Amino acid sequence: MPSERGLRGLFGKQRAPLDGVDVVLADLDGVLYAGSAPIPHAADALNAAQDAGIRLGCLTNNASRTPESVAEQLTELGFRVRGDDIVTSPQAAVRILHDLVPGGSTVLVVGGDGLVTELGKAGYTVTRSAEDSPAAVVQGFAQDVVWTQLAEASFALADADVVWVATNTDWTIPQARGIAPGNGTLVSAVHTAVGRLPVVAGKPERPMYDLAVERFGAKSPLAVGDRLDTDIAGAVRVGMASALVLTGIDRAKQVLAAKKEERPTYVLSDLRELSEPYPTPSISRSGSAVEVRGAAVRLDGDAVRIVKRGEKEIDLLRAASTLIWNTGRPIFTLDVPEELYA
Ligand SMILES: [Mg+2]
Repeated sequence: MPSERGLRGLFGKQRAPLDGVDVVLADLDGVLYAGSAPIPHAADALNAAQDAGIRLGCLTNNASRTPESVAEQLTELGFRVRGDDIVTSPQAAVRILHDLVPGGSTVLVVGGDGLVTELGKAGYTVTRSAEDSPAAVVQGFAQDVVWTQLAEASFALADADVVWVATNTDWTIPQARGIAPGNGTLVSAVHTAVGRLPVVAGKPERPMYDLAVERFGAKSPLAVGDRLDTDIAGAVRVGMASALVLTGIDRAKQVLAAKKEERPTYVLSDLRELSEPYPTPSISRSGSAVEVRGAAVRLDGDAVRIVKRGEKEIDLLRAASTLIWNTGRPIFTLDVPEELYA
């Protein structure tokens, strides 16, 4: 007679994150590559998913590059994508603009190629000067954005009728030499001058996810990202399943402390686990003990205790995050052993 575990396998109770998924919507940095190097196992895992009939789409907040140049870089790293598979924050910004200003309007751009190309494709006239009476300002990141561009945006936005769209408001942008200020800081500079806020297109805002679902005809998409505050928060907001992969920015510590609106459906050590059975946590009736495949934790007053480490570190993290999230208490009110996140 098969063991309980055998029966579970037999009836397929433990589904893999990719089961039933038609489109994977992957973030780039920290998920597919880190700087100029591919993330281990990412290409193999996603190529296998594509072989199984799942479509791969990529969602990027970075407004400085065109979809074609992103696709070219990914292809060199072993991923199978074309320009059409890349959804960028400038594309989402253009989609917003359609609803806010008449077609063919003059738009003042703060940003680079990625933005100028999309605005041109959509039939807008691009300017860099507030003197041209633009109907809108669209602001995205580019390495060569300078003070004079921020000043032109501010002069244009002094007119309350001028629409302001930001591609994204990420505070930081990872660079080969470290972490640098992202578009959020540049938007904030303009905000300080004009006293109002832009409409935002990129993750975690809705337009980018809507655009991706529409373009790929996704019925049951899975968002995959390395940041809780953008990739995962956006997916939660639109009601999309999501997987956080621990190969980028957010790690165990951030997972344990994740706010309700930033909690992923799955936590993965790398993308191979997309197609591996995802264990369902066993939760005790009182909710004070959780076990995931041999890794067990319990709540003892304010203290989270490790009962059994289990075989895989990721299972211990899955158990501990389930326990902590289910308490409904903020992480700082709990005593969490350092080995859970060190
Ligand atoms: Mg990322």
